[in-house]
Amino acid sequence: MIVVMQEGAAEEQIQSVIDRLIQMGFDVHRSTGSSHTVLGAVGGVPVDHRDIELLEGVREVVKISASYKLASRAFNPGGTVVKIGPPGRQLEVGGRAVVMMAGPCTVESEEQVTAIADIMNDCGIRILRGGAFKPRTSPYSFQGMGEEGLRFLRKAADRHHLLVVSEIMNHTQIPMFLDYVDILQVGARNMQNFDLLKELAKVRHPVLLKRGASATIEEWLLSAEYIMTGGNHDVMLCERGIRTFENYTRNTLDISAIPVIKKLSHLPILVDPSHGTGRRDKVPPMARAAVAAGADGLLIEVHHSPETALCDGAQSLYPTQFRELMSQLNIIAPAVQRTMV
Ligand code: PEP
Ligand code: MN
Repeated sequence: MIVVMQEGAAEEQIQSVIDRLIQMGFDVHRSTGSSHTVLGAVGGVPVDHRDIELLEGVREVVKISASYKLASRAFNPGGTVVKIGPPGRQLEVGGRAVVMMAGPCTVESEEQVTAIADIMNDCGIRILRGGAFKPRTSPYSFQGMGEEGLRFLRKAADRHHLLVVSEIMNHTQIPMFLDYVDILQVGARNMQNFDLLKELAKVRHPVLLKRGASATIEEWLLSAEYIMTGGNHDVMLCERGIRTFENYTRNTLDISAIPVIKKLSHLPILVDPSHGTGRRDKVPPMARAAVAAGADGLLIEVHHSPETALCDGAQSLYPTQFRELMSQLNIIAPAVQRTMV
């Protein structure tokens, strides 16, 4: 961190800041210019920079290293490729291929998820999504089928050797989820469920970590750090829109998060344009934009009968729309040196 002293700060003030920084374990390098003294502090323990900023004579503190370490680009400058699925059937996320994860918002019945899995397989999709435990805003809304839903999802996927991603809501569900899914999805509402993150650090399944609706990129990467610091490095990030003053769309999809994450972190970044917009007519343009901007994958809701869907029908694509989107993405991906899976 760099500590800039106020113009004309007294020598005692400068010395007392230096003493405080040394006490905190920093090596301090002082440089005295014609108007300001600047202190460079390296090493030390993580500190709240406001504690230094409030010391007498300090003008401002500039952080130079990120508060996350394992999730930072510097930890793996070449970028991380997460391998998903059992040996022999593995898919890679973060490599050259843009990976599609698609399916219904929620599993509604065995027939429903089987019909959609058949369509997904037909479209060349290798990862089936579907929620069985749903975090609903209202307690009166459909809460998901629970374990039975996971079972139907797995069975529908296995008919075509598809991999499965589903949302986990709390740490007590981990053993159950490991029986059914290939990727554990942490939803936006649980991005800072630290008990869940700490337990996910102990498993060896990849985690899809969605961005909280009001989370900064730094907070999001710190949540990834919780999972990684406990030993699970197979983390994929998923931008799904943030809450802004705009209410025409359900959320504001932050496409700029893609290049920002690419710069700050080595972790793969996916995009969910379904929750990002909340309207099916806006999903294909945002999906195309995400691939053009460098996303490593997409998470998209598709339903064979969106009008009757129990959850998020308005943002679920019709199968024909999804097919058309896939053919468009097959044109866009090569333009940015990618392929589609
Ligand atoms: C979902 O993917 O079904 C979901 C609930 O998404 P989010 O956590 O982004 O709202
Ligand atoms: Mn949904």
